[in-house]
Amino acid sequence: MVVVVKNDTDQERLKDLITWLKQFGVQIHITRGTQTSILGLVGDTSSIDMSDVQSFDIVEDVKRIQEPYKAANRKFHPHDTVVEVGGLKIGGGNFQVIAGPCSVETEDQICEVAKRVQKAGATMIRGGAFKPRTSPYSFQGLRATGIELLKEAKALTGMPIVTEIMSIEHLPLFEDVDVIQVGARNMQNFELLKELGKLDKPILLKRGLANTIEELLMSAEYIMAGGNENVILCERGIRTFETSTRNTLDISAIPVIKRHSHLPVVIDPSHAAGLTWMVEPLSLAAVAAGADGLIIEVHNDPQHALSDGAQSLTPDQFDAVMEKIKSLGSFMGKTLSC
Ligand code: PEP
Ligand code: MN
Repeated sequence: MVVVVKNDTDQERLKDLITWLKQFGVQIHITRGTQTSILGLVGDTSSIDMSDVQSFDIVEDVKRIQEPYKAANRKFHPHDTVVEVGGLKIGGGNFQVIAGPCSVETEDQICEVAKRVQKAGATMIRGGAFKPRTSPYSFQGLRATGIELLKEAKALTGMPIVTEIMSIEHLPLFEDVDVIQVGARNMQNFELLKELGKLDKPILLKRGLANTIEELLMSAEYIMAGGNENVILCERGIRTFETSTRNTLDISAIPVIKRHSHLPVVIDPSHAAGLTWMVEPLSLAAVAAGADGLIIEVHNDPQHALSDGAQSLTPDQFDAVMEKIKSLGSFMGKTLSC
């Protein structure tokens, strides 16, 4: 339920209304706007009679929210959420590019790639330390050492780190990680989401391979229900009957999410396509469709990459793609930090 309160309302009367609503055992999120303030009620609101709420004369409107996601719902929070990562803003017209290798492999590799992508305009460095691989015989990531190497790349460039968590027990290792990524395969690992909800660190939540947008928003809700509202959503392609690409990039997810939620949306063209040559057109399509950022795989030697070489750009290719992203981003009125 959403209660719209007139803005010239006396604070004491607003407090009375909140106290009255709280007796129904609901949590209340307050969003203050220029014209009105919105009280978003989370919990079981079935015993609250809408006409009783309407009888408070400070109330302008009362609406029931049909969707199962509340905190992530735009009806609760009409303005775009802007997530801050080490002084960088994402969302609400602010656009960031996250780039780096699929896996952190060596100090030279991550540091060289970090320097090159930063020069091209990326503002955050990505790299997997814990890797979710289909085969247990494939490279599983450098794990704790990978995170240490990412910290070296950060010390060298100043760029915030984005890296994936696969298990709650690894959380202490993520102390210095700026954005914790939840990969597609863990989108519905609800115990992990609940733990991440207790942090105030930004979470990059990827859409599962076969999950609906509503399920993605429900996973965001798990994190937000715990009190962490710094959620960045990521569309990375979904599984369809099409075999010419690794996944099918659901560009429609951008306008659909933006209509229903206030959270920023980032597109991952690399895992969507699985093919280097498709990263540029998909990146530009994402910018044109209103994405708030991109996460792109870049490797200094893709042919010898320990994972996802076929979809990784070389630093030179990334330079060329970034030029186009920057000009289309400015044309679209985005604020780019690069
Ligand atoms: C990744 O970003 O390295 C990754 C494994 O992505 P996804 O979870 O989207 O497959
Ligand atoms: Mn990858």
